[in-house]
Amino acid sequence: MSDVDLAAHARLLAYDREHVWHPYSSALAPQHPYLVESAAGVRLRLRLPDGRRLECLDAMSSWWCAIHGYAVPELDAAAHAQLARMSHVMFGGLTHEPAVHLAERLVALAPGGRLGGGTDVDPGRPRLDRVFFADSGSVSVEVAMKMAVQAQLGRGRRRTRFFTIRGGYHGDTFSPMSVTDPDGGMHALWRGILPEHVFAAQPPAWGVGRPGEADRAAALATWEQQTRQLYAAHADEIAGVILEPVVQGAGGMTFHDPRVVQVLAELARGSGALLILDEIATGFRRTGPMWGADHAGVVPDVMCVGKALTGGYLTLAAVLCSAEVAQAVSAEAAGGALMHGPTFMANPLACAVASASLDLLQRNDSRANVEAVEAGLRAGLAPAAALDSVRDVRVLGAIGVIQLREPARGGELAAYAIEQGVWVRPFRDLVYTMPPYVTGPTDLAQICAALVGAVAHVHG
Ligand SMILES: *Cc1c(COP(=O)(O)O)cnc(C)c1O
Repeated sequence: MSDVDLAAHARLLAYDREHVWHPYSSALAPQHPYLVESAAGVRLRLRLPDGRRLECLDAMSSWWCAIHGYAVPELDAAAHAQLARMSHVMFGGLTHEPAVHLAERLVALAPGGRLGGGTDVDPGRPRLDRVFFADSGSVSVEVAMKMAVQAQLGRGRRRTRFFTIRGGYHGDTFSPMSVTDPDGGMHALWRGILPEHVFAAQPPAWGVGRPGEADRAAALATWEQQTRQLYAAHADEIAGVILEPVVQGAGGMTFHDPRVVQVLAELARGSGALLILDEIATGFRRTGPMWGADHAGVVPDVMCVGKALTGGYLTLAAVLCSAEVAQAVSAEAAGGALMHGPTFMANPLACAVASASLDLLQRNDSRANVEAVEAGLRAGLAPAAALDSVRDVRVLGAIGVIQLREPARGGELAAYAIEQGVWVRPFRDLVYTMPPYVTGPTDLAQICAALVGAVAHVHG
């Protein structure tokens, strides 16, 4: 593609400002996005407002997605090959090789699957062996929640409430919003249209304030006791328990003890509710093991994946469930079918790229890559802990977080980091990075130095 000249650049930005919505943006106070001309490897090629071109390391992996970086030869090849056959056909009444091959890979990799983990706590749990392809993460959560309600109907009971923990994020359509943190998700704004589900307190965070081991264990025990009590009061109305295992992402980049996942799994099972794990952000090794669930050794009844599924090339998500759940959902009493079917369900182009991405994930020594990123982030972000403005620094897998004592001045932080050759997008009180797994040690050090430097410069 050709580069844009300076006049075209100004025109694009002006039209964008007047006419194009960006995520969580206001028409009254438009943001000032940077223009990306192209991307390759672990770098975005940005055009700065003054016309300069700058190659910036992508510290965000395009919101968790671009785990292998950009312009990845294997993914490009898969897309080209599929494009030559067909880019899309409807999935009603038709099927195709890309969807079937991707389903096979996902079933094998899933917790409890042939290549998956998750059997420590849950030996003999039914495998996740049925796959529903959706077109975005939010839609996959919609489908998972529908599955839970229909599975209960199939088992002869009407249950319509969900149980979750505060601090979560599950997407921006109404059902996912209803189980997203009530404050972060601005539930007050949507009163009357959002169903009211049951929220346990946010589990004590790993690392924050650096309490000692004994304090942490005590806080966790208190959380567990209160959560069990709350659950008991609602057990017979709960269709499903939903959470992001071990890392809550867009809700605040918090990490919780794997014990939390085990407790909620136990509560769900004890009451006949489905355990839904939202692995949309945590899946595909972002936290170290293949799944967030693997930290806890838990096999869920339903699992949502998205984001990194196609290596960041195309939008695609999937919901996996066990045969037992699939049968209950399909029972006469539940309507006789899973009532969902997105137009772009199982888009062949996206499925083909996703299979190529999963092949890379298995072929590259991605686990070692993530471990190297983790070590680099730990070393590189540690100096931030000495800054007065910093409340906490934490790292898990290929995720690094600097939490401030005040709301981040995101625009200023991003502008500073860009001058250091790094693209980062802080939110709330968080300056964080989840770089592509293939980011090398020198590039990682540059990302960390830019983040720490930006915080020191802007917040002190
Ligand atoms: C991003 C995200 C979603 C929503 O996915 P979209 O593709 O943006 O709809 C849901 N759950 C979690 C945990 C996410 O991180």
